[in-house]
Order: sequence, then structure tokens, then C-alpha cells
Amino acid sequence: RKALLILGFLFALAAIALVAMAVSQNKPLPKNIKYGIVLDAGSSHTNLYVYEWPAEKENDTGVVHQVEVCKVEGLGISGYSQDTEKAGLSLQRCMKRAQEVVPEHQHRETPVYLGATAGMRLLSLQNRSIADRVLSAVEKTLRSSPFNFQGARVISGQEEGAYGWITINYLLGNFKQVTGTSGALDLGGASTQITFVPDQEPIESQENSLHFRLYGKNYKVYTHSFLCYGKDQALRLKLASDLQASVRAPDLLDPCFHPGYLRIMNISDLYTNPCIANGEQQLPFTQLHLQGNGDYQRCRMTIQKIFNTSHCPYSSCSFNGIFLPPLQGEFGAFSAFYFVMNFLNLTTEKSPVPLDKVTSTVERFCSRPWHKVKAEFPKIKEKYLSEYCFSGTYILSLLENGYGFTMEKWQSIQFLGKVTLHVDAGWTLGYMLNLTNMIPAEKPPTRPLSHA
Ligand code: AMP
Repeated sequence: RKALLILGFLFALAAIALVAMAVSQNKPLPKNIKYGIVLDAGSSHTNLYVYEWPAEKENDTGVVHQVEVCKVEGLGISGYSQDTEKAGLSLQRCMKRAQEVVPEHQHRETPVYLGATAGMRLLSLQNRSIADRVLSAVEKTLRSSPFNFQGARVISGQEEGAYGWITINYLLGNFKQVTGTSGALDLGGASTQITFVPDQEPIESQENSLHFRLYGKNYKVYTHSFLCYGKDQALRLKLASDLQASVRAPDLLDPCFHPGYLRIMNISDLYTNPCIANGEQQLPFTQLHLQGNGDYQRCRMTIQKIFNTSHCPYSSCSFNGIFLPPLQGEFGAFSAFYFVMNFLNLTTEKSPVPLDKVTSTVERFCSRPWHKVKAEFPKIKEKYLSEYCFSGTYILSLLENGYGFTMEKWQSIQFLGKVTLHVDAGWTLGYMLNLTNMIPAEKPPTRPLSHA
């Protein structure tokens, strides 16, 4: 009996030892996380994003998380043309924040990139040397941080479209699936991009055509960036066109603002950029008094005038003689497309809101008196709030008349703020994936023993 007890005891000991061994073997290795930082220097503001991903899964898709977004206070960097040093200083607070988010021992190996978009494209057209000074100022701030500075530059409209497309398809896992890709619609303050894989080949104009080989597959992608057709510049285009058509008096009735809304604008502000060709000289007044009358139908008509559809040197065009192949597949619409539609309660996780409901919502919103709108949304910045009527109408004009999203095609648009893994939709992630070589051209070999 005693021998049996001893044997039992030994058995139990062995079992405990075995379990302990198994547990210690399966203990996860300490996480090897990498970080990357991208600053999106837009026309109206700059956002800093910190991404992280597991080092050993670098070439998988959908493994990058966004761990921080820091909104830089003040203007977009192109807004500091009068005092270029301030463009650099404005970034300091968010760079400090990034130092708190990324563990200190990884600061030196963490790449930081800054990409400037259409606000800086316009400033470069207007005054190249001032634009260069702005870029030098931001570079100075980024170089003085402990991170691995990889460059501050103005990205092209093509790049902006392409990287936005890469971001959403990477996050949706589309590159590793047999299903098709999703198109990308991006709306900023100074430009707007449309990017998708068309059915029809070839892509008739070289400047709208991109070729990618990703994870062993070839993609022929159509992209176009319309400079001056972001929502802030589009409003200027519209006002300049209204002024041309008016009796050229300083008082302008504007159907794209709420009844009772009044805005005073300096004429010089309207004409000081390359989006609007001359015309200022002939005006006998220096200020413009805009008075809203909240008429959606008329607003649509005035916006329509900024899209020139009179000529098309290709088989089909969007506007201004720019090639556009027939729309194909699903689309994700983000940035200001999302901000505006989200404010109007027109974004749903499930099925898209039908076009006629979107139209009637915008129409009703535009007709509401300004004092009531202001009272209902006291916390929203007046600049944004006063322009949701124009912006909603502009989005409808651009998508419906500019790109040809009909009632049926409209259903293929999803307005997205974030895609998966809480990552904001936009060009920054795609830019970083590309510059860190995280998207291989060929399929990585499958690891039979991997737990992934
Ligand atoms: P960008 O600065 O060029 O990236 O453009 C961003 C655009 O989105 C600008 O027109 C901003 O005014 C606009 N925007 C940013 N946040 C909001 C918001 N919460 N509501 C409405 N518009 C916004």
C-alpha cells in the first residue's frame, strides 16, 4: 500500500512537471513591435499618425494598427506662408506626443515621414521659394526629434490617390483574396481623388494610369486628382463663378448657405490663389457680402457651373476634359466625404442610404434658418457648421454629375471614417507601407508551421 502511495505521489509530481513544461513552452515570446510615424500635412490642418505592427508579420496584410492620431493645432502648413518658421513650430506638440507613445528605446529606429498634399501643391505653384521654406521649417522640427527622419515632401495627386487606394484595400484584406478591390474616393480641402480598377482596358490616358504588382498579382489602376476641387477651393471656384455671372455688386445672394446667414469676405482672399484666374482687377469693391437663402436646387445649379463638360478628348470623361472609364465595383469614400455625410447622419454601417434620401436630407438641411442650426449644434465650429449645406450639395454634384454615380451606382459607395483595426482611411498608411517595403510584389512563401 505504501509503495502504491509513493508511486502515485511520483506520478502526480511527473504530471505537474509536464504541465509546467508545456506552459513554459507555450508562453508567448515578448512582443516584438515596430512603429512608424506619418504626418499628413493637409491644406487645412496636419494630423500625425503613429502605426504599430508585429515585426515578424511584417509582410502579412492587415496587421498594422493605428495607435495614435494627434491633430496639430493651428493652420495647415501651407497657411504659414507669411511666417514659415511657425509651420515647423506648430508640429512640436504632436511630435512630443509621439515620443510618449513610442517606447523610448525604439525612438531611433522608428521612421517618420511627412507628406504634404494639395495646399502645398498650390503654394508651390504660387511661390516656389516660400513653399520650399515651409518644407525646410517642418524638416527642421522633424530632424530635431529623436526619430529616424525619412523626408518631408509634397506628394503628387497621383500618389495621394494611389496610397489611399492601397490603404483601404490593405485593411480590407483585398490583396490576398480572390475578390476584387475596392475603389477609393477622397475629398480634401484643396483636391479630390478618385481611384479604382476599371473593367475597361486600356486606360486611355497615361497620366491616369498606375501599375502595381502586389502579393503576386498585377493591378491596373485608374486614378485622378482634381486640384482645386477639394471642398474649400470648390467653394471659392463657385463664388468666383457667381461673381462673374452677377451684376457685380458687393451683395450676393447665396443659395448654398442657410437663410439668415451672412458672411463678409475680402475679394483679395478669393483671388489670391492659382485656382482662380484673374478677374479681381475689374471689381469696383473690396468686400463681398454673402447672404444665404438656403435653396438646394439653386445651389446645385451654381455648383454645376464649375464642372466643364463641354469637351472630352477620350471615350468618356468626368469633367474638364479628364478621362474617366466606366465606374466599377464598390467604393470607399473618406476624409471630408465622411465628415460631411456623418454630420448629416447619412453614414450607416449596414446598407448605404439611397441617393434620393440623401438629396432630400441635404435639401431640408439647407432650407433651415441659420439661427436654428446654430442653436442646435452649439459645439460645432461655425466654419464647418455654416458650410455643411454647401459641402453636402457639392458632394452630390461631384459624385452624381462629375463622376456619374447614378441611383444604382450610388449604392456601391460606402462612406467610411475608419476601416478595420481602428485605422483612419486616407493615404498615410499606404504611403508608409510602400516606403517601408511592407507590401511585397510577390506572395510571401506560406509558413506551414506558423500560427498565423
Ligand atoms: P485637408 O486639410 O486638405 O486634408 O482637407 C480636409 C477638409 O475637411 C477641409 O475642407 C476641412 O475643412 C474639412 N474638415 C475637417 N474636419 C471636418 C469636420 N469635422 N467637419 C467638416 N469638415 C471637416
